[in-house]
Amino acid sequence: MPEIYVATTLYNARRTQSDRLSESEIRILYNTFMATQEETFKKLVAHCKEYGFVFPSSEIYDGLGAVYDYGQNGVEIKNNIKKYWWDAMTMLHENIVGIDASIFMHPTTWKASGHVDAFNDPLIDNKDSKKRYRADVLIEDQLAKYDEKIEKEVAKARKRFGESFDEDMFKQTNERVKANVEKRNALHERFAAALNDSNLEELKQIILDEEIVCPISGTRNWTDVRQFNLMFSTEMGSTADGAMKIYLRPETAQGIFVNYLNVQKTGRMKIPFGIAQIGKAFRNEIVARQFVFRMREFEQMEMQFFVRPGEEMKWFEYWKEFRLKWHKALGMGDENYRYHDHDKLAHYANAATDIEFQMPFGFKEVEGIHSRTDFDLSQHAQYSGKKIEYFDPELNKSYTPYVIETSIGVDRMFLSVMCGAYKEEVLEGGDTRVVLNLPAVLAPVKACVMPLVKKDGLPEKAREIMDMLKYDFHTNYDEKDSIGKRYRRQDAIGTPFCITVDHDTLNDNCVTIRHRDTMAQERVKIEDLHTILSKACNMRETFKKLK
Ligand code: ATP
Repeated sequence: MPEIYVATTLYNARRTQSDRLSESEIRILYNTFMATQEETFKKLVAHCKEYGFVFPSSEIYDGLGAVYDYGQNGVEIKNNIKKYWWDAMTMLHENIVGIDASIFMHPTTWKASGHVDAFNDPLIDNKDSKKRYRADVLIEDQLAKYDEKIEKEVAKARKRFGESFDEDMFKQTNERVKANVEKRNALHERFAAALNDSNLEELKQIILDEEIVCPISGTRNWTDVRQFNLMFSTEMGSTADGAMKIYLRPETAQGIFVNYLNVQKTGRMKIPFGIAQIGKAFRNEIVARQFVFRMREFEQMEMQFFVRPGEEMKWFEYWKEFRLKWHKALGMGDENYRYHDHDKLAHYANAATDIEFQMPFGFKEVEGIHSRTDFDLSQHAQYSGKKIEYFDPELNKSYTPYVIETSIGVDRMFLSVMCGAYKEEVLEGGDTRVVLNLPAVLAPVKACVMPLVKKDGLPEKAREIMDMLKYDFHTNYDEKDSIGKRYRRQDAIGTPFCITVDHDTLNDNCVTIRHRDTMAQERVKIEDLHTILSKACNMRETFKKLK
């Protein structure tokens, strides 16, 4: 049995039956599970390349750090994700419209938005390994270590006390746990204060006081913490004309804010209303790793929802809930999502939360929901000298609208879907298969049509079926190798249905349809294929879950 299954099963056993396992068993299982998760992630990255999902950018020149290209299957998933988001926003909400703004914007935009002065990450280098880190991430990892220690003690006690175990009481009374909780909370408080004050000396002092070592060199030989601006810049116009320094946008949101008046007026939009946009964003990330999780060029799907001042918290709650529903409707397992409220609010926000997905490297942000107050519109009004307001006929007064933003990275969404979908399965008889249990609505190919043999009129019949389906569904045709091998190829790219045409098909107009996840096969009429595929692959059914 592959290691992944051993570890997953045992890890689950740990969670549900920890009272029956000893502490050392739990530790071994947990470590095995984590190591296996890392291994699985590596395999997923390799799989993405082997099956045409994601390639390193300009690979023939050895690639470019944290820049990736999507291949023939990856681009289909990405397009499906974008469509799922775009339609959920603009079709299901009559008060949301879309735009497509340019990547280049007038440079004052970024002065007004605060990005020129404040779009920084605190970086620190280890002098021995010469490796660069984000100081805040090193401290967050340290916090996670305390959490892990506390969790271990709790698991041990749960095992000892069985049914009568009271976790809260235990945390309040056990001296070792109490000490760790106190240390953790003190660190958390100090960290949040340092971040909020942008106090770089204090961040370094925390790293020293916590005795955080470089994972590569194992030493505490750190440089000072410095701010690093994440925006890429370039020049527009020839130098003779006096070239202008412009930026590659680090977020798509500002393209929406500077078009607020245009859209509100031309669309006769009434508050509350939203503007949605999908597009590229660029950030010169200090530490770019974990595949497409943190890229230097990536794509965002952002929506700014303009509301009456004072009503922003109501809408913040609405969007928090709606966005989580949108994720969960894909059926990747509700337990894989959670909210994470921000410790440090951005300079413009009065509330912020992330939706996190359980990746093999832990729960990680996929989407942010922010209450941005009237900061952006007010700033643009001030810097441009234009009045950017809304006249509210119900209140009979003008005001600068408040904004709730939902911001999700297409690439992170892609990664979460791939991580959730990638499975290595052991089949009866000991055979194994790699399958992507992708939500059918996101799968790059919905059905593959296969003639059993390459003769006797079966290929022609298969092509006929493909012609019937191709106007509504992305279909593949495959006549090479055994049916078993063809199934495996489709499993590996997550195709929900394989349709086999055999000799009986020519007489009874029926085909064998094989379901990816269960591998169950059934005989169906050709005329029913369209309905079967529609039910599973059209977004309609998924959208209904968003009500
Ligand atoms: P992080 O804390 O992970 O750097 P962030 O809080 O800076 O992310 P936001 O500015 O809120 O991210 O951006 C909104 C969304 O854009 C994120 O939730 C994420 O999905 C995506 N995103 C941000 N930076 C990147 C990146 N470098 N690569 C891929 N996606 C990104």
